[in-house]
Amino acid sequence: MSICMALSPVCADCMHARSSPTAIRCAGSHRKASVACNLLIFPSPCRFPRRRTNPPGRAQKMSILIQNGYVIPAAKAAHLPRADILVREGRIAAIGVDLLGSPGIGGEGLEIVDASDRLVLPGFVNAHTHSNESFEQGFYDALPLEIWLMHKYPPFALPQLEERAHYLRTMILAIESLRSGVTTVQDDLINQPGDPAAFDGAAAAYRDLGLRASITTSMGDRDMLEPLPWAKDMLDPELHARLATVRARPTADHLALFERNFDKWSGTANDRLRVILGPVGPQWCSDALMQAATEISLARGISVHTHTLESKTHAVQADQIYGKPLVEHLDDIGVLTPNFTLNHAVWLTDPEIALLGERGSCMTHNPLSNLKLGAGIARIPDLLAAGVPIGLGTDGTSTSDRADMFRSLALAAVTHRAGEMDHTRWPTAEDAFAMATTGAARTAMLGDDIGTLEVGKKADIILIDRSDYGLIPLHKPVQQLTYAVNSEAVRTVLVDGVVVMRERELTMIDERAMKNEIREAAEDYLKVHVPRMEEAAKPWDPYWKAFQLRVAHTAVPASSAPVRLPCGCTVAMPHTKTPFACG
Ligand SMILES: [Zn+2]
Repeated sequence: MSICMALSPVCADCMHARSSPTAIRCAGSHRKASVACNLLIFPSPCRFPRRRTNPPGRAQKMSILIQNGYVIPAAKAAHLPRADILVREGRIAAIGVDLLGSPGIGGEGLEIVDASDRLVLPGFVNAHTHSNESFEQGFYDALPLEIWLMHKYPPFALPQLEERAHYLRTMILAIESLRSGVTTVQDDLINQPGDPAAFDGAAAAYRDLGLRASITTSMGDRDMLEPLPWAKDMLDPELHARLATVRARPTADHLALFERNFDKWSGTANDRLRVILGPVGPQWCSDALMQAATEISLARGISVHTHTLESKTHAVQADQIYGKPLVEHLDDIGVLTPNFTLNHAVWLTDPEIALLGERGSCMTHNPLSNLKLGAGIARIPDLLAAGVPIGLGTDGTSTSDRADMFRSLALAAVTHRAGEMDHTRWPTAEDAFAMATTGAARTAMLGDDIGTLEVGKKADIILIDRSDYGLIPLHKPVQQLTYAVNSEAVRTVLVDGVVVMRERELTMIDERAMKNEIREAAEDYLKVHVPRMEEAAKPWDPYWKAFQLRVAHTAVPASSAPVRLPCGCTVAMPHTKTPFACG
């Protein structure tokens, strides 16, 4: 008897969620964690009654007919006020009126889902988030990106977690996502220590809940001090010396971890799970690493997912490191391909936007996070005009604080109206809806399979309560979904042709047991790790505040972007009224 390291979160016999992870004995050797092992022997017999749920990672064989729904095939497509969708082998096999009884449709093995009181639409794709932030939802307030980073990711107090804690942390976000109508998550899983258990835990959570996920192997091979502007003359010498000891892991380590994650997980769970490349930001990555990631992405048809020009600090850093706008530098080194996605991209100049349009690179838009961190307002009207594919995201769950796509939808539509008085340039609800579906699918390079309801595409479908107060009376459903409805209206969700939430009940896990286990782990984290992290961050606060003010008073080429005056004024101005005096 060998030890099977595929830690199944549920008892294979009764499907009850296991509360304490232990190595599981089995009769065979199971090298792939995605293989559902039927030979698990528990230390003691499971005391829960047998439940009828779908074993993790296994697709239902049954066909499903979603009947008589109000079908919205895509953001800007004609709606079908009463139509059926036939789902077979995980894909959409037919869309039409009164399909039941048509040749080959009916009989045993066909599950009917009554959608007569439902809107039926493509599942949302969350283009950018970080599930590793889920134990700090709502914890931080009124901190700009750089100061918040020091608190959430303190270099001298990074928490070390067990694989099960990583699993539970991602599970919160995955469940919130599902309940918000998200069927695919692009999870930029920040993992500075390069711990394989972090990746395995996160991937297993998506596998078990039944979601589709593209998960990054996060990478950064530049030492912490390297890209910091003015560190030498502004930091206390002792703190400067301490920061100099924070060394990044070498390039080869990052690439090796990516290969390990890719081999183990990419294409597993019936191809629901993808492993993508996540250089965290050009300022934290050598050009060699950016280029290596680009090469791999082109060879394998996967995306490179990188924070770029999120805050003004990044624009200042680019000026100092490269002596030119960042996007121009990325183009110089060959990184700006259609496989490349810039996350946030708030501080862009006009030529950079034009360049993105020419190269076909994508961006993710995370309005709530940008507003909460005071990072600025992305130039969405200009990016739309340049034809840059835009995916809507929530960003991590400690800067947007909930993986709720409905909040993102509303903000993506309304935020860009401030400061733009030509209302014909305003993004509409349809634009926001497209960002949350086709646009986000494009950033994940999954546009051929998901993002719309079309015959042949994967059956990632959500059913929304048509009797929700926000949909009474039903007149312009996409606008109502954007402005008048929240996540509670999402009733039933299919991913890969499998019903993973039915009338708001999760079908793949025992949610109650899972929630109890999550709560225990999260409270433990709050007690054990957060005080240490906060303590470690504190000495740096005054210095980071000074950096922030100096950045605010520094002119960069994109200076005029976030505060766009109706007169077209491009005069560089300090981004605060608080004076900054060096030294
Ligand atoms: Zn992010």
